[in-house]
Amino acid sequence: MNPRCAACDLRYERGPGYFLGSIYINYGLTALLVTIGFYALYFGRVTSPQAALWIVTAFAVVFPIWFFRYARSLWLGFDQYWDPAPEEDATEDEPDEDSESPANW
Ligand SMILES: [Zn+2]
Repeated sequence: MNPRCAACDLRYERGPGYFLGSIYINYGLTALLVTIGFYALYFGRVTSPQAALWIVTAFAVVFPIWFFRYARSLWLGFDQYWDPAPEEDATEDEPDEDSESPANW
């Protein structure tokens, strides 16, 4: 993953556990699609119940892996919409001059 957005310079990595929320998005959508898919296959009499179970199980393994990056993107957009990152100046990455580091004593 790129550290910053090439277009607007938004920092992606905010801290440890920042993208934990994307797991909820990924899991929730997977569970929803598996539930809908199973009942559609089962009640639509498309396949046998046993085959429908194998199909949705395979889907539940493959889909979250494919959807991982999109879930992170959705989480970042959700967070940016509700709690926008503060504007950063160019000196953000440099040490603070007022810090209590020994170099400033
Ligand atoms: Zn951007």
